[in-house]
Amino acid sequence: MALELSRSHHWIAANSYRVRVAAFALVGIPIALHVLPRQPGPLFLALFLLQFFVYPHVMYWFSRRAHDRVKAEHNSLIADSLASGAWAAGLGFPLWISVALFLAALLNHTVTLGYKGIVVCVLAVCSGALASTTVIAFHVSSDTDGLVTLTSIVGLAVYLSLMGIEFFSYIRRLHEVQDAVDAQKRILETANQALHEQIGKIRDLQEKLREQANRDSLTGLFNRRYLEGTLERELARCKRENTPLTMLLLDIDHFKQVNDTHGHPAGDEVLRVFARALQESARAEDIACRYGGEEFLLVMPKMPLSVALGRAAHLLELFRRTPVVFEGSSISVTTSIGIAAVPDHATGVESLIRCADRALYRAKSAGRDRAVVYDAA
Ligand code: GH3
Ligand code: MG
Ligand code: MG
Repeated sequence: MALELSRSHHWIAANSYRVRVAAFALVGIPIALHVLPRQPGPLFLALFLLQFFVYPHVMYWFSRRAHDRVKAEHNSLIADSLASGAWAAGLGFPLWISVALFLAALLNHTVTLGYKGIVVCVLAVCSGALASTTVIAFHVSSDTDGLVTLTSIVGLAVYLSLMGIEFFSYIRRLHEVQDAVDAQKRILETANQALHEQIGKIRDLQEKLREQANRDSLTGLFNRRYLEGTLERELARCKRENTPLTMLLLDIDHFKQVNDTHGHPAGDEVLRVFARALQESARAEDIACRYGGEEFLLVMPKMPLSVALGRAAHLLELFRRTPVVFEGSSISVTTSIGIAAVPDHATGVESLIRCADRALYRAKSAGRDRAVVYDAA
């Protein structure tokens, strides 16, 4: 960005170089006009040239190179005011020249120091005047002729205008910087909003991924991975709360034949319909999961064995009575169910599943399409 607003720049002595050079020349004109008729000596001429045509360049040079630029700014303004006082007193306080010198000094001090600048300016001008009267005897000749009065007033007016223009462009630069900052802020806000939206999308995606990782893609039921994590927790809760938990292990009968007779897609459709029916018949707290190819697990927390038997009978009847229609053919399947419960048959995850598996095996060997409760014997 080309805009530069540095607070460390003492902008009167260093940054307003041209205005300052012009100001010294402007105040030099009425002084020269005032003194010339009195035929000044070479010492005066040398002092005059040094003060009004060399001094501002030297101060600028020092100001640019100063280590502490703000301090250098204040020092150079104090030096200006001391010189103003000295010149006014040395010339015998010519009215308009003195007014021009004092007002210019006052303006410079107040814009750099505020209210404090008034005190510093008055003190510096008075000190300069006092120093001058110790070298040259105190005298007052306040009259200035018409031309001197005019050039003093014009000089002062031009200096005030130049300073006004400096302020104007400084404030305009300030506004430009403010606008640029506002624009950057808006860009950042938009970027921030977009970022938040992206984060929201990523969170949704992560949630979806987590959900997908726990689901079986064909049936939409929970998968075995999810069950392994959850069952452990559910059993711990049952133990803690001293409540029963019953597990149904369901296996579709002669499912291989369904595939062989109607084709694999038909088998898939049977699995989907079976899964939907299982899910719809489950309570909110039940966990329905696809355990293997055509094997499903229904975990029912807070469910005593006696009630679970009724649920199993209902499921058997449901599957028996719900034929799957696929591409015009109606496919009827039955199911075998192995039942095991906590704390009746087992207390751990693995032993509970093993019991349900044994019961299922017995249901199969007893002729299928039935539910069998685990029996240790
Ligand atoms: P049983 O009554 O003893 O359970 O006999 P079954 O034919 O159901 O059991 P088996 O274990 O012999 O066969 C299971 C079949 O399930 C074999 C396999 O091809 C099929 N299968 C497993 N997963 C899928 C699947 O995702 N889609 C389809 N269509 N078939 C599957
Ligand atoms: Mg099987
Ligand atoms: Mg089977």
